[in-house]
Amino acid sequence: MTTWAEALVQAAALGVQRLDAHLLLLHVLGLEASGRAWLIAHDDSSLTLAEQHRFLQSCSSRVAGKPLAYIVGHKEFFGLDLLVDSRVLVPRPETETLVDWALELVVSDGPRVLDLGTGSGAIALAIKSARPGAQVEAVDNSADALNVARLNARRLSLDVTFRQASWLAGSTDFYDLIVANPPYVAQDDPHLAALTHEPLAALAAGPDGLADIRSIVAQATTRLAASGCLLLEHGWDQAPTVRALLTAAGFRAVTSRRDLAGVERCSGGTWPELG
Ligand code: GLN
Repeated sequence: MTTWAEALVQAAALGVQRLDAHLLLLHVLGLEASGRAWLIAHDDSSLTLAEQHRFLQSCSSRVAGKPLAYIVGHKEFFGLDLLVDSRVLVPRPETETLVDWALELVVSDGPRVLDLGTGSGAIALAIKSARPGAQVEAVDNSADALNVARLNARRLSLDVTFRQASWLAGSTDFYDLIVANPPYVAQDDPHLAALTHEPLAALAAGPDGLADIRSIVAQATTRLAASGCLLLEHGWDQAPTVRALLTAAGFRAVTSRRDLAGVERCSGGTWPELG
């Protein structure tokens, strides 16, 4: 019989980080991620053979670079528990910067909000959960991703409308706010090598990583209501270029926001009033 303590020693020997090993073991035992203290306090308990097998398998997957969120099947984003798997990008903490900014803008009654490339639904669901009065719509080009997003909306009982589309293709409405965390990594960026478990289509965007951001900026100009805003997440070094793209397209009050790491992570602007 292997005890929890022994299993954690095995995980460390395989190269699994301590926090990850705790979370994987809690997952295998069917316990909440908040149960780390309990796990440690009871680490003389034993694993069944099946649990031991599943734990070692999860450890191997983790060492092979599979995101922890895919192994345990969910990820917390903006206080929401989202189901995630390899059909969608794992929601990143830096994307909460975009949500914070969006929430500052969604103050009136019933604003129309559109999330482009919603993936797991993270941004759209976070906005809807914090601003139930907003009419939130979300699109993704991937039918697989939309299935995950719809499942998350159902589990969280959040009324978001999902549609399959490439950015704003087929949209006929006007929006008060358009948000997106599009792919923005350059296609030959060495950083992609560490992200092979996630969908490439959600990460890479042409030779300079700006192909999709350019499309979105151009298309948003035709679908924003007067005084509507476009907010985009982008790469750590792309803020000046994205601001220039927004300004050149006619946006006003173009500015960027830093994430918790101090990186200029989102840029946005306001579409001018008519006349
Ligand atoms: N922030 C992600 C990363 O670099 C990329 C997400 C994206 O392309 N939208 O790991």
